[in-house]
Amino acid sequence: MYLKALELRGFKSFPDKTRLEFQKGVTAVVGPNGSGKSNVSDAVRWVLGEMSPKSLRGSKMEDVIFAGTAKRTQTGFCEVSIIIDNSGKELPCDAEEVKVTRKYYRSGDSEYRINDKPSRLKDIYELFLNTGIGREGYSVVGQGKIAEVISQKSDERRHIFEEAAGISKYRYKKNETEKKLAETETHLIRVNDIVGEIFLRLAPLEKDAENAKKYLVLSERKKQLEVSIWLDRIIKASDRSK
Ligand code: ATP
Repeated sequence: MYLKALELRGFKSFPDKTRLEFQKGVTAVVGPNGSGKSNVSDAVRWVLGEMSPKSLRGSKMEDVIFAGTAKRTQTGFCEVSIIIDNSGKELPCDAEEVKVTRKYYRSGDSEYRINDKPSRLKDIYELFLNTGIGREGYSVVGQGKIAEVISQKSDERRHIFEEAAGISKYRYKKNETEKKLAETETHLIRVNDIVGEIFLRLAPLEKDAENAKKYLVLSERKKQLEVSIWLDRIIKASDRSK
């Protein structure tokens, strides 16, 4: 698995569609100060789901969209795609090549795609779990990041070691399962409430059902008696007319 290409469009200092191709081995990006080198690594972090504008050296998410220059107007959206070679099938996906795309509009709307299929951020997170790539991975280490890792609280540092050791996938699945369990417990409480309510209504309903049964028996008896009375009247009337 290796990074094959990165496509940027409207992202920070890349207003036009730009495709950067990488070979196996080491690639160095060189350029004068402020030429946009760090914007390339920001794009990698962003497309993998980075949600903190501060980590992307901005104050709000909109700052990742090309803001315009004296000669060029700003763009309405930005889009970044990362293309990863998956011929070794390290990613849980059958494709030889995995393309993850993130698009963001000034309106605040976001779109995510995996191999051009609309996806959720959660799908991207799950795709890269345990690979070291991804939002919480350690594959993108920014300037000053090493010092930050060392000075982090032990709990925060543990996340990085867990990802490297391949445990975070199981921790994630455990958390997801616990969430589902908690939801099921809430549903169970609701079901018990409903059963309780129905149980309370049961006694009066039983009484009503008994009355209804009695009514049916009595109304049948009434019908028979009415028929008898009418028969009796008819017989008496025909006797009188003889
Ligand atoms: P250094 O070597 O000093 O770290 P660098 O080559 O890494 O610099 P970056 O920090 O990646 O450069 O890029 C900074 C440039 O990107 C600046 O010129 C800045 O104006 C431009 N830039 C950042 N965000 C935007 C944006 N939203 N729209 C347009 N240009 C942007």
